[in-house]
Amino acid sequence: MSFELKIETAKRVVVKIGSALLVDMSTGTLREDWLNSLASDLAALKAGGADVLIVSSGAIALGRRVLGFKQTRLKLEESQAAAAVGQVALAHAWQKALDTQKLIAAQVLLTLNDTEERRRYLNARSTITALLARGAVPVINENDTVATTEIRYGDNDRLAARVASMISADCLVVLSDVDGLYTKAPDAEGAQHIGHVTEITPAIAGMAGQSATDVGTGGMETKVKAARIAMEAGAAMVIASGRVHNPIAQVIGGARCTWFQPGASPQAARKRWIAGTLDPLGRLTVDDGAFKALTAGRSLLPAGVVRVEGRFAKGDAVAIVNGANEEIARGLVAYDVEDAAKIAGRKSAEIEAVLGYRGRDELIHRDDLVLKGT
Ligand code: GLU
Repeated sequence: MSFELKIETAKRVVVKIGSALLVDMSTGTLREDWLNSLASDLAALKAGGADVLIVSSGAIALGRRVLGFKQTRLKLEESQAAAAVGQVALAHAWQKALDTQKLIAAQVLLTLNDTEERRRYLNARSTITALLARGAVPVINENDTVATTEIRYGDNDRLAARVASMISADCLVVLSDVDGLYTKAPDAEGAQHIGHVTEITPAIAGMAGQSATDVGTGGMETKVKAARIAMEAGAAMVIASGRVHNPIAQVIGGARCTWFQPGASPQAARKRWIAGTLDPLGRLTVDDGAFKALTAGRSLLPAGVVRVEGRFAKGDAVAIVNGANEEIARGLVAYDVEDAAKIAGRKSAEIEAVLGYRGRDELIHRDDLVLKGT
């Protein structure tokens, strides 16, 4: 399937903002007018029905002056200390800017493990999904104060791409100090702008290496790496200039930018991953009623499960088989094998009484389920 996504038709948009756009680097203060113009763009996206998430840098840039760090290069613990101070200001700035549009800001600080480890991933994803369901705007940053060198995303381009993939966003907007990818450094002679990329070829990766910018931790190389992660997850990514007011409205209005378009939608990419990449670690046998519900596109409830086998943890892939032992679907299970066995055959309303905690109503949610042959 080939399709072309635009920001205005996206259902779930992640917007990544670099430090140099948010913070005036010469004074260390917030660029409030610009931030307000962006907030009005975000409100327009939300009014159009999209979920909006922000990945915002700027904690270190805002905090460093307050702590009196004058040198350009900070030691790891110094940047972590700066982030601890700056994140408070950053969250406040977002709350204020979003409030001008009557939007609710929700601070989410992530470390690498939150997108890389299955259990934590599922938790982070359900929290973010719950926020979106209530109309809030998650404002995400790396939890810089606790993330050590080995467990850092390091740059927010990668963090934004991981977030986009985790929550199946269809669009990632990376606002930068340049308006996209060029064949060489943008100011070099003969440099040409690339408007459209459908595959990260070695040539494209090579261009990114040459056109690095000097602002922020990212540069073009990390942006193209982020594009690869986003495209694999079925999300389109656009690199656009944030040097203008209302940068998203500008892209929608036709401003120059670089689009990276994936070959498949996020749902298709995720289902392919569940169906093909993961080895099932267990088996759930279901009754006829559950079989019918599954083929009608519904979730698998514990009530329809007659047998639980295998060794799986919450979030692992399992096979779903019918009474004749034929595999009919695969999915990511919401309970570990012991708890799944305890609630099998029970109504969802009984889960809390049986397990002593309130988990999900579904054993496998339909978003985490792929029918064989689809
Ligand atoms: N998390 C860092 C901050 O808030 C920014 C990382 C980056 O610039 O990519 O300052």
